[in-house]
Amino acid sequence: MSAKIIDGKIIAADLRARVADEVTRVKRDHGLTPGLAVVLVGNDPASEVYVRNKAKQTEAAGMASFEHKLAADTPQADLLALIAKLNADASVHGILVQLPLPKGLDTQTVINAINPAKDVDGLHPINAGRLANGLPALTPCTPLGCIILAKTVHASLEGMNAVIIGRSNLVGRPLVQLLLNENATVTIAHSRTRDLAAICKNADLLLAAVGKPEMVKADWIKRGATVIDVGINRSPGADGKNKLVGDVAYEEALGVAGAITPVPGGVGQMTVACLLVNTLRAACAIKGLKAPA
Ligand code: NDP
Repeated sequence: MSAKIIDGKIIAADLRARVADEVTRVKRDHGLTPGLAVVLVGNDPASEVYVRNKAKQTEAAGMASFEHKLAADTPQADLLALIAKLNADASVHGILVQLPLPKGLDTQTVINAINPAKDVDGLHPINAGRLANGLPALTPCTPLGCIILAKTVHASLEGMNAVIIGRSNLVGRPLVQLLLNENATVTIAHSRTRDLAAICKNADLLLAAVGKPEMVKADWIKRGATVIDVGINRSPGADGKNKLVGDVAYEEALGVAGAITPVPGGVGQMTVACLLVNTLRAACAIKGLKAPA
């Protein structure tokens, strides 16, 4: 039997459409146009593609998009001054600084400078701390997307044995909190974990956020498990050309898993859709409106 393929493309399109409806409603009822500012420092080609895509989708959802492109050698003081300006700008409800930043800029100092109420990437320590304490918070977009995808397979994640591989602030750590909020039993593995394959084999829900092409093999996966593959890796295909692959050996996993996200077409699609959700939520919260469901 082959696993059900969790189609991130369709699920993300549905989420974007719901955000667009809600934007229409807040514009009409409250005169509120949610605005997202994206700051790109330098000209990393992958980051340029991400930023362009974010701007396009923000506008398609009916929100205002503000792009700020700065040279790679921009002094940190100038970047912090721009963030201060965006913090004070009433038309901006979400601020995202595209990572990674060029050498010479301190990522944590830059994140700390963003007003937590506008921190749509959910990386500010205030938001990370609120999430860890089970309080409402702006939450990193990729983990949010993972939960939405898992819940298209399981109406409830309660009591499930969830294993996350990877403990980054961007993905693994916030996933722990989100899964605990769903009443899953959570194990987080990393590069120092012993007998990773055996731990994964216990998972009803396996989430891989490592950055190692096709590391998770079929015999690491419990029969019928749901597998969410966060990894985006470039790896040479049979024709010698680079192709995108996840952290899971997808073709062989199809024969064991109950459901699985493809790469591309899985989690990646959800990240930008969840960014739109966060921008809408931030705009509503700043305006004192009830958060959309
Ligand atoms: P990081 O490099 O920050 O973290 C990787 C994590 O994997 C670390 O916790 C590391 O452990 C762990 N790890 C590394 N090697 C192993 C190993 N051999 N066994 C077990 N654990 C290991 O990466 P990110 O969290 O930022 O990203 C992870 C992947 O997800 C990447 O492929 C990235 O491109 C992708 N990604 C995709 C997104 C999307 O939209 N789909 C968004 C964000 C990321 P340790 O902490 O011990 O070093």
